[in-house]
Amino acid sequence: MDPKYIFFTGGVVSSVGKGVTAAAIGRLLKERGFKVMVQKLDPYINVDPGTMSPYQHGEVYVLDDGAETDLDLGHYERFIDIRLNRACNTTTGQVYAEVIGKERRGDFLGGTIQVIPHITNEIKHRILMVAKVTGAEIILVEVGGTVGDIESQPFLEALRQLRKELGRENTLSIHVTWLPYIQATSELKTKPTQHSVRELRSIGIQPDMIVARSDQPVEENLLEKIALFCDVEKDAVIPMQTAPVLYEIPLKLEQAGVAEFILRKFNIRALTTPDWEPWQKLVEDIRRPKPGIRIALVGKYVELHDAYISVREALFHAATRQGVDVQIEWVHAVNLEKEKGLEQLKGVHGIVVPGGFGSRGIEGKIKAAEYARENRIPYLGLCLGMQVMTIDFARAALGTENVNSAEFDPATPNPVIDLMPDQQHITEKGGTMRLGLYPCQLKLGTIAAGAYPTELVQERHRHRFEFNNLFRDRLEKKGLVLSGLSPDGTLVEIAELKDHPFMLGTQFHPEFLSRPNAPHPLFLAFIAAVKKHAGV
Ligand code: GLN
Repeated sequence: MDPKYIFFTGGVVSSVGKGVTAAAIGRLLKERGFKVMVQKLDPYINVDPGTMSPYQHGEVYVLDDGAETDLDLGHYERFIDIRLNRACNTTTGQVYAEVIGKERRGDFLGGTIQVIPHITNEIKHRILMVAKVTGAEIILVEVGGTVGDIESQPFLEALRQLRKELGRENTLSIHVTWLPYIQATSELKTKPTQHSVRELRSIGIQPDMIVARSDQPVEENLLEKIALFCDVEKDAVIPMQTAPVLYEIPLKLEQAGVAEFILRKFNIRALTTPDWEPWQKLVEDIRRPKPGIRIALVGKYVELHDAYISVREALFHAATRQGVDVQIEWVHAVNLEKEKGLEQLKGVHGIVVPGGFGSRGIEGKIKAAEYARENRIPYLGLCLGMQVMTIDFARAALGTENVNSAEFDPATPNPVIDLMPDQQHITEKGGTMRLGLYPCQLKLGTIAAGAYPTELVQERHRHRFEFNNLFRDRLEKKGLVLSGLSPDGTLVEIAELKDHPFMLGTQFHPEFLSRPNAPHPLFLAFIAAVKKHAGV
């Protein structure tokens, strides 16, 4: 079978769940036995989101191969339970960098470089690449932003051309829109959807399916209206009301017959019968009333929960599996530095310090680690969270406050966290950290080794600084356990405290590998400790 392509565009407004819709549809197809891949096309000019502030962009999601990508790739991986690669996130920046590089090399000698065909050709090349490098049978391609944005025009033009080149039987276009609710008349409106479809058609793309998002139930007559005005089949207008449980969406789309419609359009048959039982069980587990646990998440972008979306999901997956409801208290690290700031941590059953960069709020995070250590509250440190846990421990163990990470105090006499040797001469910021999958050897008899099913694990990384080996002996003697090392023994990957119920930090980001139906082992172990502490 030729690879099949499903193009996702957004209409009316952004942030209505286009990424989750694509991810959920990917799941429907995977359940039918197809090898599915998903690609996000991001119209911004940055090469990748790696150097963007989380306030701008939410979390940076890291893949096995070290690509720093859009957080939608996290949705794709979690919903479909697949591993994506660098080719799965393309930005305008990458496309232009490639084309301009070719121009400088003289590849187009004599030619004038233009958006059409040079930029659109490069976009098409990158879309087709995904199937080539992965052997995927169905490729879902999501264009960021909404139709009408100046930035996304070359991407939409490339999709239009691909439709023609690959043939209608091999491509499908799904438009995800929003139905606003008018309070005064208590009704949902389809006009913005009609306009956005008109805009899409003006660029030459006729959607095959419209997913109509809304906060209210959508009545039958509205679906008919959308079908009529937007010229799509009635059963191809899919109402998608905001779901209280995100992981319910694949089940809802299944019920709406989305997969059948897609397969019919592609003229292909399912290879296997979907087995929704595990998902149904997952949703039941999520819905069932459960005892609550409170976990403080101490970060500096806490106003924007999307900045920690994988951490939040990983906690949620593990808590659901362990039969508890996790309530996250979003604690701003800077506030912990204030007088009486620590009162915010009173009564929490667990503390998580996630990844981060830069010195703002760092002392507040160290205080959170100290509080967890002294009060024997379960603590999970992720990357920076492991580093601040080490700083706090070293300050106590060495009996001096003069301990820090060279990232925050380059002149500190005790840099327990220091720049990795191979980072010393790097000056460029983009894509130059230690990124992606690296192995970690666990030390038997530790909390970490007890959590994982195997002794050698592979985890995703994103850091420049590391545990300074000059301090190993001194800190180990005082009760710091280096429970995970790189196989050659040179890098500390996991540290934990001996005399504490659960105080563990990882130099890597386990949150990226947690799945709803396969919670991450360290998160499971952490939640188990939190439950014990909470007495539930
Ligand atoms: N800033 C730290 C480093 O570069 C931690 C990075 C992170 O938390 N992802 O090592």
